[in-house]
Amino acid sequence: MTPSELRFPVDLPVLGAAPAPGARIFQDPSDVPLLVSCNCPTTLCNYRCSYCYLDHDARDGAREGRALRVWERIVDRIAEIRRPLFLAIGTQGEPLTVKPFWDVLRRLSALEHVRGFWFPTNLSRPIEHLAEGVDIAKLGLTASLHPSEFRNHDRDLEAFLSRCEWVRERGGDVVINFILTPDQFGLFPAYRWIARERGLPMTANVFKGVYQGRSYPESYTKDDHARIEEFFADRPLVHDFMSGRSSRGVACNAGRDLLHVDEATGAVWNCPFALEPMGSIFDDELAVRTSASPCSTDWCKCHWTIGMIEEMTQRFRRTKSILNYEPREELTPGARPFA
Ligand code: SF4
Ligand code: SF4
Repeated sequence: MTPSELRFPVDLPVLGAAPAPGARIFQDPSDVPLLVSCNCPTTLCNYRCSYCYLDHDARDGAREGRALRVWERIVDRIAEIRRPLFLAIGTQGEPLTVKPFWDVLRRLSALEHVRGFWFPTNLSRPIEHLAEGVDIAKLGLTASLHPSEFRNHDRDLEAFLSRCEWVRERGGDVVINFILTPDQFGLFPAYRWIARERGLPMTANVFKGVYQGRSYPESYTKDDHARIEEFFADRPLVHDFMSGRSSRGVACNAGRDLLHVDEATGAVWNCPFALEPMGSIFDDELAVRTSASPCSTDWCKCHWTIGMIEEMTQRFRRTKSILNYEPREELTPGARPFA
């Protein structure tokens, strides 16, 4: 048994005074959707992208197997929340390689109030077989395009795009994502053109990490930033915050419409970056905030968390593919992310 399993479940106190009426997510039903992220503890991946910061070869399968069972129990507990739920399931590997992951999606599919589940995937394997019994209309995928890993570029690209279409034809939501590493940078417009020809939305992620001895995004040149800005022309705030604009102090719906749950202990935070403690998922009295609050960290790093910032929420509506932002017809003060 690992130290994290020994700590499970934790019983952290909810900070602050008594919860406001309607804020207790296991007690007070509400029809306002809540986004809950809880990462699947797997590092198994069939790719070896040169820019990946994860060490897929150092994994301990037995330890991961135990961690997956704990994660399943925590996800089942999350599903008891009495609000419409969107689940964000990040991984450090490839979900198409993890069988228990699909068993969990089958269970979640059967729950009416679970409106959607999101996860990233390289779509390198036939999802249509693995997803048997899963409600595809609830899927919201970030399909990560890694052409450097294709053995036969045209064949593998076609398989990737066909799988995106397969999910969309069944009501699921897919956004193709592309990492803007320095040597892939120039390829983005061409792949985006191909995706658009097939009616598939595509976006990019600013590269965060060290590449050939240089740290990014700090090492992007002025010209690089101008091009990234053009890539994000339809959502300039995403560009701003991904490229380093401080989020500290901005009004944000994290903690109200987003919770982040530790996959090993069940500890709950407002979001995965600010990490403000909210309590434990095993506490029946767990409560969320009832208004937006100022961000307490400098860098809101991801597309999907940036969407929780109040200014974004006023301009865009979220979908179950949490990288997808639908523009609102007009600026809507007081809007909730999924409404
Ligand atoms: S597909 Fe993703 S997790 Fe796998 S090696 Fe590439 S970047 Fe890493
Ligand atoms: S702005 Fe981003 S980092 Fe800050 S609280 Fe909101 S979601 Fe978290």
